[in-house]
Amino acid sequence: MNIHEHQAKEILKKYGVQVPNGVVILYPDELNTKIKKLNSTNIVVKAQIHAGGRGKAGGIKLTKNFDDLRKEVKSMYGKILITHQTGPEGKKVKRLYIEEATEINKEFYLSCLIDRRSSKIAFITSSEGGIDIEKLATENPEKIITTKVNLNETISQKDIENMIKPFSLNEIQKKDANNLIQALFKIFKEKDMSLIEINPLIITKQGKLVCLDAKMNFDD
Ligand code: ADP
Ligand code: MG
Repeated sequence: MNIHEHQAKEILKKYGVQVPNGVVILYPDELNTKIKKLNSTNIVVKAQIHAGGRGKAGGIKLTKNFDDLRKEVKSMYGKILITHQTGPEGKKVKRLYIEEATEINKEFYLSCLIDRRSSKIAFITSSEGGIDIEKLATENPEKIITTKVNLNETISQKDIENMIKPFSLNEIQKKDANNLIQALFKIFKEKDMSLIEINPLIITKQGKLVCLDAKMNFDD
């Protein structure tokens, strides 16, 4: 089973992980009231479907004022979105996530998943975020770092350093990355997950580490 991006972000938030502020809307009418919870005029409309590759398929739109936002919500809601992960029939957009836009400095890749062969948890990291890991594995496999950890042990400092090497972080960001990885590990174990993928994990223009997209699959 997998859950929507907004639900995955809700879980991340509960575990103290930085995600942008956002609200989910199930009907376009809800926009007027829900938008009051956000503090920015730059808003990203994100189609909530169980598939990635939304950005390139028109399922992620940046808006800069309320009029634009309303138009984008109207046009995206109910649309059939065809991404490289939906198959040719596409998926109907039945809910939207309305999120504060973040100014991006760098995009990275971070995921953790069960490595069945070794019975360990594999953390995958890369300096190349925002693109599919499959594509990266074919085109730039040397840019993918895999770090395996035991499910029943704590993650060592050496492992963390290995994981975050591709990110070239400063000391404060390293601390945040450490907390993020520990939180992901905890979520992974407590909720019986088979995959958590943060793509992209970003450094904002202000230097903050933020999860901009989140995918979670449960072990079933
Ligand atoms: P998908 O992986 O389905 O294409 P993402 O959530 O990863 O969807 O979004 C695609 C791209 O859109 C991101 O790589 C990022 O550049 C941009 N984006 C997504 N959310 C935001 C946001 N809140 N603020 C600014 N840019 C965003
Ligand atoms: Mg993504």
